[in-house]
Amino acid sequence: MPMNIAIDGPVGAGKSSIADQVAQRLHILHLDTGAMYRSVTLFALRNGLFNADGSVKADDLKEMLPQVNVSFKLNAATGLPETYLNGEMVERDIRGMEVSSHVSPIAAIPFVREALVAQQKAMGNEKGVVMDGRDIGTVVFPDAELKIFVTASPEVRAKRRYDELQAKGQPADYDDILKNVQQRDYIDTHREVSPLRQAEDAIVLDNSH
Ligand code: C5P
Repeated sequence: MPMNIAIDGPVGAGKSSIADQVAQRLHILHLDTGAMYRSVTLFALRNGLFNADGSVKADDLKEMLPQVNVSFKLNAATGLPETYLNGEMVERDIRGMEVSSHVSPIAAIPFVREALVAQQKAMGNEKGVVMDGRDIGTVVFPDAELKIFVTASPEVRAKRRYDELQAKGQPADYDDILKNVQQRDYIDTHREVSPLRQAEDAIVLDNSH
């Protein structure tokens, strides 16, 4: 019987790595919802939809949002999914610091969440997916058969992001990353729509070590 698995938690807790391995083991699909918010952010950056103070030109984004198409394709060589924005593979662009430091305000916009959550729900309709994010167990799949809430200390999570960027040869500064992790934690847990929180029936997994 196919099941849906929801993995939630703060940035850098290890959700995506766990989800990738679960997907490979169970031969099911991994949908990284953070990649969807990141892709919308990349689109907004490329189209000048941020004001100088970092706020979003929400009216313009609302008008252009129907032009944003995010999809996933499995890379046959690595066996891992890759993110496409309007047909372009953007895996590298969406993981850099520029997108990381602009994504939380985008993810706090109600019409953005509404559009992406609708797509995520549709992707999970057939069952048999493992989806990771912030609101999967609470909003996207409240009926998921298995819910995991992954946590780790901010320092451990920042160090992981740092190592990840270094390994990819991308610029990385630990203090900047730690600040970004803390800022995103704050925005993600304090926003009005679907804040990051643990579902009551989720199993908590401390992934610090
Ligand atoms: O998981 P990842 O760090 O790639 O997510 C990027 C950002 O997207 C998060 O900091 C959060 O603001 C947002 N996000 C969200 N809801 C999700 C997944 C990600 O708000 N389901």
